[in-house]
Amino acid sequence: MQSPQTPAPRFPIAHPFDDDKLREECGIFGVIGVQDAASFVALGLHALQHRGQEAGGIVTHDPVQGFNSARRFGYVRDNFTSTTVMETLPGPLGIGHVRYSTAGSKGQTQIRDVQPFFGEFAMGGAAIAHNGNITNANALRRELIERGSIFQSSSDSECIIHLMARSLQRNIPERMEDALRRVEGAFSVVAMTRTKLIGVRDPLGVRPLVLGRIGDGWVLSSETCALDIIGAEFIREIEPGEMVVITAEDGVQSHFPFRPQPSKFCIFEHVYFSRPDSILGGRSVYETREAIGRELAKESPVEADLVCPVPDSGTPAAIGFSLESGIPYAMGIIRNQYMGRTFIEPTEQIRNMGVRLKLNVNRALIRGKRVILVDDSVVRGTTSRKIKDMILDAGAKEVHFRIASPPTAWPCFYGVDTPEREKLLAATMTEDEMRVHLGVDSLKFISLDGLYRAVGESKGRDKACPQYCDACFSGEYPVTPSDMIDKGFELKAAE
Ligand code: SF4
Repeated sequence: MQSPQTPAPRFPIAHPFDDDKLREECGIFGVIGVQDAASFVALGLHALQHRGQEAGGIVTHDPVQGFNSARRFGYVRDNFTSTTVMETLPGPLGIGHVRYSTAGSKGQTQIRDVQPFFGEFAMGGAAIAHNGNITNANALRRELIERGSIFQSSSDSECIIHLMARSLQRNIPERMEDALRRVEGAFSVVAMTRTKLIGVRDPLGVRPLVLGRIGDGWVLSSETCALDIIGAEFIREIEPGEMVVITAEDGVQSHFPFRPQPSKFCIFEHVYFSRPDSILGGRSVYETREAIGRELAKESPVEADLVCPVPDSGTPAAIGFSLESGIPYAMGIIRNQYMGRTFIEPTEQIRNMGVRLKLNVNRALIRGKRVILVDDSVVRGTTSRKIKDMILDAGAKEVHFRIASPPTAWPCFYGVDTPEREKLLAATMTEDEMRVHLGVDSLKFISLDGLYRAVGESKGRDKACPQYCDACFSGEYPVTPSDMIDKGFELKAAE
């Protein structure tokens, strides 16, 4: 496989408030049956950039030039728009990946950790891009190394390539099935051979994956917003436990290679990770977030003059809160749209400005008012405190926080970057202690049942068999995080 020379790493610069959100670690995209697949993949990855901003990669296949790849640090728009890169990626079939760093390489990512990964097998090459997290990766890696596998990256996802290499099945989709049956945790995968585009979701369907149609071609994507950007039609979600094998000639062949299990889609995709213009479970993410705001207003009303979102992710929930409560909605905090993560290297003085670099208070609106601030989540609480200070500095009379998710008290082990448990505010404090810590007049989170109602489960959460993964709120992990337990992580005691 040819790979153009990789430039020196250029990391997007993290800002002091960037670590106060849970961060999705990956977005994946693939297309078959189009001219110049790489351009479609680049556009798709650009639409999925919110799922990972540290690095991206594209692999394509061309009948004459074979497999080609390019992997880069930084934004898609800064790398996969240059003709010198895109000309090296010919062909009608391609896949791509955007990422944050995964557990093995946080803060010290090497270009070799950037996906898609490529493997050369006896029956031809295959490239694979993975969204999620393998919860038994350490055990698998140990076993594979003992049996002679030579790993090239610190990424969990490389285990899948080595498991495929060891499979005795006769073609690549069957080897992939074999490999994925050994893998525990959450995975949505797009992969490609010389002639096939392959998509798989884990049996619980924790991470999203959708199928689209463009002309005579087919598309796989983490979210529907990436179909829109290339003018593709949304066909359907890939089902939990489903594998689709797509060829230009025969279209989509679907099968279910895993033991069926009740679905456990990540409920936080509805709250925060997915883009509001995406469709999840047949519903617009925007509408679900507005419904969350309405539920929050019903559960935790408060007398106030204004409902303001913490932009941008709190906006639909704030609109819902305002509609339900009748309290006027206002943009009390303005986000600087041009303040990307690739801002000039900040000096210490600029760093100390913290959240003010990104958000500014609309003073004329806030002065003398009782303000309800709606945010999507509280993780460490550092940003919430700074925002509250800004609102009070601007002369607000009262500040009430309303949070569009339940308290985040447990880490995620299924492909989302979460601080250790002791750094999560809700793991160490009660709701009232958090209110005092944040220094606000009131603090309320939506209940788990309220969140379930907002995502369309009218009877709320089924305690015996929850309809979603909600482990970061409930501590009930649908897949045992065995690697983390080996490292000393303690599961919640049975009630
Ligand atoms: S633990 Fe939370 S963030 Fe992770 S998959 Fe489950 S619901 Fe999503």
